[in-house]
Amino acid sequence: MADQTFNDDTQHEPTATSTWSRLLAGNRRFAQGKMTHAWQDHETRESLIDSQRPDAAVLSCSDSRVPPEIIFDAGLGDMFAVRTAGQIIDDSVLASLEYAVDKLHVSLLVILGHQHCGAIQAAEQQLGVLASRVRHGDDSSETAQSLASVIDDIEAMGDAQAAQDAQDQLEESLENLLPEAQSPIVRLVGPSVLQAYEAQLRDHEDIERVHIAHTIEELVDRSQPIQQALADERLIIVGARYCMDTGLVEVLSF
Ligand SMILES: [Zn+2]
Repeated sequence: MADQTFNDDTQHEPTATSTWSRLLAGNRRFAQGKMTHAWQDHETRESLIDSQRPDAAVLSCSDSRVPPEIIFDAGLGDMFAVRTAGQIIDDSVLASLEYAVDKLHVSLLVILGHQHCGAIQAAEQQLGVLASRVRHGDDSSETAQSLASVIDDIEAMGDAQAAQDAQDQLEESLENLLPEAQSPIVRLVGPSVLQAYEAQLRDHEDIERVHIAHTIEELVDRSQPIQQALADERLIIVGARYCMDTGLVEVLSF
């Protein structure tokens, strides 16, 4: 998908490619402190009173440090933004994105995760509590370990096969327990965390990347209109991760 994205076909109407290049250029300006703040004046506001025609839709985290219009140095009418904690998907998010694709005809959909995402940290923490209960049968939060340390304990078992079996059993138990988690954030982000752990990825940044990929899979899986737009080549979906350290957006390809 990334290869398609960077074809230099920018001469005609705003295509997904040219839109994405423009957003990335805006992000570079933002990271360098050279924002132009274009299309934020009152003439632009007045020109958009009767209609909007954004080129891109963005699904991003609600985190106050990650406003997409600012980090892409975008203006009024530029992007149709949907934000939830951990960019989780529910029916309202699906309906909003489908509206952007089918009614506003956006050709680019950006799924934007970010560094230090609290929703992912919360899901990891909650999975640690659940894992402690599964392993020790104790629901006291004082004995709760992190998911990583529960797995470390399992890995420290002498018998490699028994450790692998115990880990598989733990992951299966957690998958079964997740749908009952109270917080929708934990229910919806937890599977991404488990998917990362199953792939031996424990670094927070890797888990954030897995969550972005998982979110795209989930979105395509659940939305027939988005499947159709992809099949008709009316839409490109891009995964990206905003790094607070640098101000830059990391482009992920799937
Ligand atoms: Zn976040």
